[in-house]
Amino acid sequence: MKQITTYTGKRVLVLGLAKSGVNAARLLKKLGAKVTVSDVKPLAENQDARDLQADGFTVITGEQTADLLDPGYDLIVKNPGIFYDVPVVKRALAENIPVIGEMELVGEVADAELIAVTGSNGKTTTTTMIQKMVDHDRKAGHAVYAGNIGIPASKVVQEVTPDDTLVLEVSSFMLVETTEFHPHIAVLTNIFSNHLDYHKTRANYVAAKMKITANQTADDYFVVNFDNPEWQELSKQSAAQVVPFSRLNQSEDGAYEADGELYFKGEHIMAASEIKVPGDHNVENALAAIAVAKIKGVSTQAIVAVLRSFGGVRHRTQYVLEAEGRQYYNDSKATDMEATEMALKGFKAPVVLLAGGLDRGYTFEKMIPSFKDHVKAIILFGQTADLLAETAKQAGVKVIKKTENVETAVPLAYQLSAAGDIILLSPANASWDQYPNFEVRGDRFIKAVEQLTGKQEEV
Ligand code: ADP
Repeated sequence: MKQITTYTGKRVLVLGLAKSGVNAARLLKKLGAKVTVSDVKPLAENQDARDLQADGFTVITGEQTADLLDPGYDLIVKNPGIFYDVPVVKRALAENIPVIGEMELVGEVADAELIAVTGSNGKTTTTTMIQKMVDHDRKAGHAVYAGNIGIPASKVVQEVTPDDTLVLEVSSFMLVETTEFHPHIAVLTNIFSNHLDYHKTRANYVAAKMKITANQTADDYFVVNFDNPEWQELSKQSAAQVVPFSRLNQSEDGAYEADGELYFKGEHIMAASEIKVPGDHNVENALAAIAVAKIKGVSTQAIVAVLRSFGGVRHRTQYVLEAEGRQYYNDSKATDMEATEMALKGFKAPVVLLAGGLDRGYTFEKMIPSFKDHVKAIILFGQTADLLAETAKQAGVKVIKKTENVETAVPLAYQLSAAGDIILLSPANASWDQYPNFEVRGDRFIKAVEQLTGKQEEV
């Protein structure tokens, strides 16, 4: 880590704890700042706050009102989950107190080369593919990932050295809070209309995403999805060398697919069908990762080895195992219809689908075409089971069953399937009606599959 002096003696308020806030606070203290932390959760239920207090931090818990700023601060470090229009942030901005986020700090102290990945979808998958590829064939150091992927970047950044490569997954919320953030290689996977509650307008959201390249120079690289004219046009704003990737057009100066084969600048890499994680969206993620790996000089052999063996990120159309000719996939992260449609589209073989969960008042007609094309049987649980059963009926799905939960759905799925089928958990709903979170739901699915088949999850 670079020993910068920018924060020495500065009075800093860290707004919002969780993993990123806790680690940002600790990092700031190491840099010599006088750190106060504020979190809404009462101290009695707030282990993070108590730990920080025990380590000598000033801790304030409870509602984050504007008078929090009364003691006077030189800097606010805000958790990405806190909106800019809450009173305390508004007051800080009105008083010209700089408001930054964890990623800005990370960029300032990082002593390793930075690769940063953003986009509406595919961030975690692409980040993981890149880390695995760039970690191959190294002469020194390691490639490590952190950030929005769930591993606090402000912690990892303290451990990396100039021999390492730090691959950061950065959300639009994290990017808004940056000013000088400067990755050597930046990746934009795509931009859909997400998170408009936070960013208010699509223009703001696009501007946030584009901050990933704002400080890049001609010595840097900007890897961009060229399958959409808007994203292609946006790449012109970058001062970096633009490296396109494309599934639909042959972008000869980057990574692309042609007739089911993947290439980088004319060099054949592999067949798209050899990528272990299913679906066109994963071909896009793979192309983005290939572009980065090639910029970094990773061998084609290493790239191919990663894409043939990487079974997906846990809970995201994750390949679990194969038994008696059935392949089991865990896509518990699919908490909305779009994600389940995407997962279904990825399979050519008939699918036995396990779905259902928290009722948010939606109806599911939108899913009729993908049910029609891919689903041979559906097993439903949770609050939306009846609604989804109705949709499946309209789609002409022949076998529709209801059951208690994910665990009881697994043996039923086996009974209703044949060799060659896919058994897929992709619930199209949040998990909170029956499980604490989507991770627990996915873990229970994997466990039930392991029990049924007597085999272990393949990692
Ligand atoms: P993120 O980190 O951006 O949420 P993930 O890699 O975790 O993305 O993928 C989450 C879900 O988003 C996947 O299960 C899939 O349904 C969808 N997805 C992944 N990659 C893409 C992509 N390139 N384009 C569109 N959708 C995608």
